[in-house]
Amino acid sequence: MSPGYVELFYLVATALFIFSLHWMNDPKTARRGVAAGAAAMFLGVAATWAQPFVVNHGWMVLAVVLGIAVGYPLSRVALTAAPQRTALSHAFGGLAAALVGTGKYYLWLSEGPEELTTFRMVAIIAEVILGCITFTGSLFAAGKLQELRWIPQRPVTYPLQNVFNIALLLVAVGIGTWLALNPATPEAAFLFPVVIVIALMFGILLIVPIGGADMPTVIAILNSYAGLAAVAMGFVLENNLLITAGALDGASGLILSIIMCKAMNRSYLNVLFGAFGSAGQTAAQEGGEQGEYKADTPQSAALIMEQSTNVVIIPGYGMAVAQAQHRVRELYDHLKKRGVTVRFAIHPVAGRMPGHMNVLLAEADVPYGDLVEMDDVNRDMPQCDVALVIGANDVVNPAAALDDSSPIYGMPIIEARKARTIFAIKRSMNPGFAGIENALYFDDKTWMLFGDAKHVVGEIVKELSGDAGTG
Ligand code: NDP
Repeated sequence: MSPGYVELFYLVATALFIFSLHWMNDPKTARRGVAAGAAAMFLGVAATWAQPFVVNHGWMVLAVVLGIAVGYPLSRVALTAAPQRTALSHAFGGLAAALVGTGKYYLWLSEGPEELTTFRMVAIIAEVILGCITFTGSLFAAGKLQELRWIPQRPVTYPLQNVFNIALLLVAVGIGTWLALNPATPEAAFLFPVVIVIALMFGILLIVPIGGADMPTVIAILNSYAGLAAVAMGFVLENNLLITAGALDGASGLILSIIMCKAMNRSYLNVLFGAFGSAGQTAAQEGGEQGEYKADTPQSAALIMEQSTNVVIIPGYGMAVAQAQHRVRELYDHLKKRGVTVRFAIHPVAGRMPGHMNVLLAEADVPYGDLVEMDDVNRDMPQCDVALVIGANDVVNPAAALDDSSPIYGMPIIEARKARTIFAIKRSMNPGFAGIENALYFDDKTWMLFGDAKHVVGEIVKELSGDAGTG
């Protein structure tokens, strides 16, 4: 294929990537966005493969087969595991960038050291450092999120940790700068692996002090590093599509992490260096005496809800775990049939990824118009007869609004506590993702409905449909 056509295909692929991001902004067009992204990726690979310098097609076939073998099972994981699945994708992207950079460096060193210009060396060093950090950082983060036994889940901190980490990074950047200026010296071939080892170590050390509710945000930050590594790779390979796609990836990861930080009322630096959820913070939080909680049955919850005028359903991570969205839709239908106004209060960080609740409720065909954003629903909460909390915890925790010693203080929440009656479905009194107690469950107006969300909502639906005695 002639270079002109290749560039044309790259241009179309870039446009498709941009449209893909745009369409993914709205649940109604999100599927189209995924298809556009996949088509762009296909065009990019096909146009690159068709170039005359690709002569060893066997390697390309092997790469495609390996990619499908790893990618297909990854696409089947449950939505609740999306953050760790995404982290694995970033790890592969980072590894690819680091390998390309390393390969190119040693190839040019042996075949034509004059090719190692300062510009190229800067791109190679950036690609290798960012790629290695993304690789180990994302792998480690995926392990933490998957709760692997041999990886500590809580943030691990020690004296002068940030100073040590930053010093380590500066050493890597310092050696990298020297390499960029002296790429073809005998010492350079020896120092290049040193940069790789330091960057790999830094990736792990960056994640060690991070934990709890910050982990998904860190995944988005690593997403932006992976994008930047791809941009650097694009400069090394002189590939325009890699530069633009990497820039889009990096920028969208950065924007996403900023949105997540805002929704949790945290600063970017606090997420990276604040050691949220470390042992000290959690112990302080658990210390408070919360008093008694009251349990109730799905049957009496059904009775109260059918006599209500206004019900707000607040879904959270537990609804996703239980896959209760279809039962929730049935509940919605039954209440609507009885003339009850039912709305869903969607917190921007409910679940484990932005839009998690929207995706689940769309899957169950819940009318989009009845999904209400946090600020709007909070205004109406005092007029709400029943707030039904389904597997949500941190996003309704009053400590965020009332307790300035709480680690989540300042995070905007759905103010379920202001409703006249609160029913909370969860399996136990265990804390949520942030690892802190929730005073809402001990509130006078709150009734706990213990059990798996799908089962409990199913029991409420049975009662409302009159099947309770027969089932
Ligand atoms: P939480 O993780 O705070 O709480 C989920 C609750 O669901 C738990 O208390 C758990 O209690 C319950 N649960 C789990 N499984 C089931 C089940 N099968 N049936 C019934 N209940 C169940 O979730 P939230 O959605 O309230 O909050 C999300 C958290 O994730 C926040 O801390 C947020 O900051 C964080 N986060 C989210 C991001 C996002 O983009 N969405 C990004 C960054 C962080 P029990 O075990 O007793 O059942």
